[in-house]
Amino acid sequence: KMSSNLKVAVRLRPFNERERTRNANLVIEMNDSTTIITDPEGRAGEKKFTFDYSYWSHDGYREREDGYLEPVDARYADQARVFDDLGKGVLENAWKGFNCSLFAYGQTGSGKSYSMVGYNLNKGIIPITCEELFKGIDQKKQTDEASKEAEYQVSVSMLEIYNETVKDLLNVSSFKKGGLKVREHQQKGFYVEGLQVSPVSSYANIEARIAEGTRNRTLAATNMNATSSRAHTIVAINFAQKAKNDVGKSMTKTSIINLVDLAGSERAESTGATGDRLKEGSMINKSLLCLGNCIKALADVQDGKKISVPFRDSILTRLLKNALGGNSKTIMIAALSPADINYEETLSTLRFADRAKSIKTKAVVNESPTD
Ligand code: ADP
Ligand code: MG
Repeated sequence: KMSSNLKVAVRLRPFNERERTRNANLVIEMNDSTTIITDPEGRAGEKKFTFDYSYWSHDGYREREDGYLEPVDARYADQARVFDDLGKGVLENAWKGFNCSLFAYGQTGSGKSYSMVGYNLNKGIIPITCEELFKGIDQKKQTDEASKEAEYQVSVSMLEIYNETVKDLLNVSSFKKGGLKVREHQQKGFYVEGLQVSPVSSYANIEARIAEGTRNRTLAATNMNATSSRAHTIVAINFAQKAKNDVGKSMTKTSIINLVDLAGSERAESTGATGDRLKEGSMINKSLLCLGNCIKALADVQDGKKISVPFRDSILTRLLKNALGGNSKTIMIAALSPADINYEETLSTLRFADRAKSIKTKAVVNESPTD
């Protein structure tokens, strides 16, 4: 058993159109691993934080003709750099048989989906990871004598937590029945009963499944960001490698890669939500509030306090239990808005990310005789 800290990355996006036209002021500065936020009204002064990875994606780039945002200044972190740091490690660990989790936190419009999924040619961590996984499998099959006999199986599931209900994004008929149930297994922990797990045999395959899931997502507009999802989305990639060991016995190594695009962390008031939207907002807050409570409790446990972590209190934290407190190597990306108007929310994101740093998980290699 190897205990390791949850790794935390922060990423700062460019000003958006609205902020640019309103001449928004930049409140974030980054120096190496230090991120500094300054209160635009001068009351609180500067606050400093340090993280494992800090990505300046605010300026220093140009848009190529094909739409890819590439650095013109070495400081700018493009999608390739973020994948090289975070996605590659996830893949290496998956090959070793560790469960891995990567989740994006931040207010609506801060850049969570940009890092996780990406837009057009600016592919995010999820599509690149899928692409590289299949590249790796193909390479192994061609080059490695021993692994010619090996078998590789990949499958994908995709779900959404919306108003504390689980919808299977790869099975629309699950939407009607009021969602799927989360159950607990003695060894495996929490799981979603009846969730569709689709075998995929190529990148094109998995890309098509994820595109299907994305089309099925519930989208609701708030006046913060017209296209942002108000739900938590979890893409899980199951990777199994079957091979003979030294004494000729067939062994199977498995890894689950959990990729989580969380709903916006903003408080309901700041989105101007009313009616149904407000209900959505408060439900999302319930799940995220609970995530915050779990992270706080886990940090306290780290300080030697004997307290229990309230994983059971929401669907999101049940499903993230392994990622946060168990058998997983975990990375969190905190997405930051650069603008003064978002100061309070960005500060709260930085505080959340700061608490998450102290969490330790114990990942084990999942390997057992092939059954
Ligand atoms: P969220 O998922 O947190 O609601 P998005 O990822 O959709 O936010 O980002 C909001 C907008 O900001 C999008 O138009 C996106 O293209 C842009 N954006 C976010 N992060 C970056 C980045 N690192 N570089 C360039 N544009 C970005
Ligand atoms: Mg999003």
